[in-house]
Amino acid sequence: MAQRDYYEVLGISRTASSDEIKKAYRQLALKYHPDRNQDNPGAEDKFKEASEAYSVLADQEKRQAYDRFGFEGLKMSGRGFSDGSFFSGSEFSGFEDILGGLFGFGSSRGRGRSSARNGRDVGMEVEITLEEAYNGVEKELEIKREAGCDVCGGSGSEPGKPIETCRQCGGSGSIRRSQGFFSIATTCHVCSGAGKIVAHPCEKCRGRGRITESKDLKVTLPPGVDSGNRLRVSGEGEGGYSGGRSGDLYVIIKVEEHDDFERHENNLLYKLEISFAQAALGDDIKIKTFYGTEKIKVSPETQTGKIIRIKGKGFKNVGGWGKGDLLVIISVVTPVKLSRRERELFRELREIEKSKRGKVGESRVYN
Ligand SMILES: [Zn+2]
Ligand SMILES: [Zn+2]
Repeated sequence: MAQRDYYEVLGISRTASSDEIKKAYRQLALKYHPDRNQDNPGAEDKFKEASEAYSVLADQEKRQAYDRFGFEGLKMSGRGFSDGSFFSGSEFSGFEDILGGLFGFGSSRGRGRSSARNGRDVGMEVEITLEEAYNGVEKELEIKREAGCDVCGGSGSEPGKPIETCRQCGGSGSIRRSQGFFSIATTCHVCSGAGKIVAHPCEKCRGRGRITESKDLKVTLPPGVDSGNRLRVSGEGEGGYSGGRSGDLYVIIKVEEHDDFERHENNLLYKLEISFAQAALGDDIKIKTFYGTEKIKVSPETQTGKIIRIKGKGFKNVGGWGKGDLLVIISVVTPVKLSRRERELFRELREIEKSKRGKVGESRVYN
């Protein structure tokens, strides 16, 4: 592709002043900056083209060479950029910073002295028991959050005492220096970009302008909440900067494990251990649940692994309608520490089972 005339690229006349060149380039750079054109693959080339044109026309010496001899003139002077090497590799990645400093957008936005900035959102984990998750609970939380200092209003300077303008940067917060054809702005190292020097630091925040404050907060967790659920408490995150909004607090639920109960989706699981006799003959067994006592009817000849479902006694569906079930999972337990009488009865039982099966060799006898 033939290289376009630099004046044509910037859309200016050959007699354009340096201000006009700068203005034209600024408009194009803003329009085609890669950060703003992620969906427009052609933008980066346009951006480079404009930058190259600007790099030549903004430099008196190069502009003269270009005006007299065209692109050849630049090659002759040994300062050509037409091979594209200027924009390769790491140099291009640093370009954004240059533009950021030059035009006040990109990575340097939000820095500086008068920038109102919103506080960050903050997460806080709250542990509750399974029973609290089942019934819902009101929790008293002590939150620690960073916020603007209430004594100095975030300025970091003792009220009534003057704040000095930074002498290093003259109050702009940044130091400009020329590097080649670009002016590069870096954050002032003396005032860290604030533009001001606090000569009399506020006693409460020690000049930081920020304090950590503790606050008690009551949150109501509805029945059915589960581990990983997040509750947003608006405006209780980190305090804003220079009049910016406070962030939000996210209360993140963690439910502790329970010895007897377990949750599976919205169902409440309970493992009920019963004896041989209860399994064989059936029984009514009372269990203590999160909502009171529940009578479980074990039918005769129940096997291990059987699940008895009590409808609608599980967890409330926190995000919608309905409730899960209580699932009682039966486990038949082999008796231990048998008394003499029990052993007698089991022996008798074994004889009966033996005769029922009619196979003697299958079981061995220990007496
Ligand atoms: Zn303060
Ligand atoms: Zn400074």
